[in-house]
Amino acid sequence: NAAIGIVGGGQLGRMLALSAARLGYRIVVLDPNRHCAAAQVANEIIVGAYDDAGALAELASRVAVVTYEFENVAVDPMRRIAETVPVLPPPHALEVSQDRVVEKAFLNGIGVATAEWRAVDDVQELDHAFQDLGGDCILKTRRFGYDGKGQATIRQRSPHAEAFASLGGVSSILEKKVPFDFELSVVAARGADGAIAAFDPAENVHSLGILRTSTVPGRITPELAHAAQAVAARILEHLDYVGVIGVEFFATDGGLVVNEIAPRVHNSGHWTEAACTVSQFEQHIRAVAGRPLGSPARHADCVMENLIGAEIEQALDRLAEPDTVVHVYGKGDAKPGRKMGHVTRLHRRDR
Ligand code: ATP
Ligand code: MG
Ligand code: MG
Repeated sequence: NAAIGIVGGGQLGRMLALSAARLGYRIVVLDPNRHCAAAQVANEIIVGAYDDAGALAELASRVAVVTYEFENVAVDPMRRIAETVPVLPPPHALEVSQDRVVEKAFLNGIGVATAEWRAVDDVQELDHAFQDLGGDCILKTRRFGYDGKGQATIRQRSPHAEAFASLGGVSSILEKKVPFDFELSVVAARGADGAIAAFDPAENVHSLGILRTSTVPGRITPELAHAAQAVAARILEHLDYVGVIGVEFFATDGGLVVNEIAPRVHNSGHWTEAACTVSQFEQHIRAVAGRPLGSPARHADCVMENLIGAEIEQALDRLAEPDTVVHVYGKGDAKPGRKMGHVTRLHRRDR
């Protein structure tokens, strides 16, 4: 049977592997940790760094297509293996989404609104950018940030030098703070044939930079949903994309503003496993395997809640709740702030 390679064996790789297994695909995962979350599900684990050219070449030699579960995979080694095996989503999507400056320039270039921003490489540039943008801002590292790590709020009187140093003094971006009503995201897929299927957008609540809940439809009107899905489709087409993408937005008085894009399945799409016939994980496997996309239709309203750190200890107690789907990632160490599982509660229309 055909085999699919996944770079990264965290919870997203694990959930992709679960969906792929159900369709009969063999799964080979590359991860530095033999006991990664995906290990319980994958047929084979290649132990190696994500950017190790030898390990990637070995992965490529064993599978029919290579995909990835996170956006910080080094682009050059991925381009190299793309000469021997399809790499989907295309490496260009990695290149765009792993650097916040390249990402915002791309989005603005295709007519998609973002926060106002300036690239910042030292404290002087930070001072100038702050004067230029005027008002509260957020300083973020250009690369490697996730779950709100690598960010600092910049106000008029805050010591800019300290903020810059607190991020490690690396190449950064200063973004104007967006006064949003709420946050939402679209998880959408593009198939090998160019077909696009977007799930309904979710309203997202973050705390301390980490996603807490995704609610569908939440406060999202049908008009706003269509507008957000149209932006996602525009991004997919411009990247000549194949696979699932996550697009994060701010809803503001002036309309939709994109926060960031993720070239992979997305935490705010985990509800699809409970409320859709085809989950985001199966949809991604279908796309990269060259199969038809499934319908993104939703059969229930729902709320997905992340289980973070020690919250995982009560996960199985939630099985007593009605219309509830519990998902445990099987990660060993329930460190504070670590995503350990999630629970989706359905609110069925026939009740
Ligand atoms: P993720 O885990 O989603 O990849 P991340 O570390 O890449 O997160 P962002 O999504 O850039 O971080 O920011 C995290 C959260 O911080 C956002 O969801 C939003 O709540 C807030 N935030 C980020 N940028 C802005 C902005 N320009 N204006 C207002 N709020 C912002
Ligand atoms: Mg991010
Ligand atoms: Mg984000």
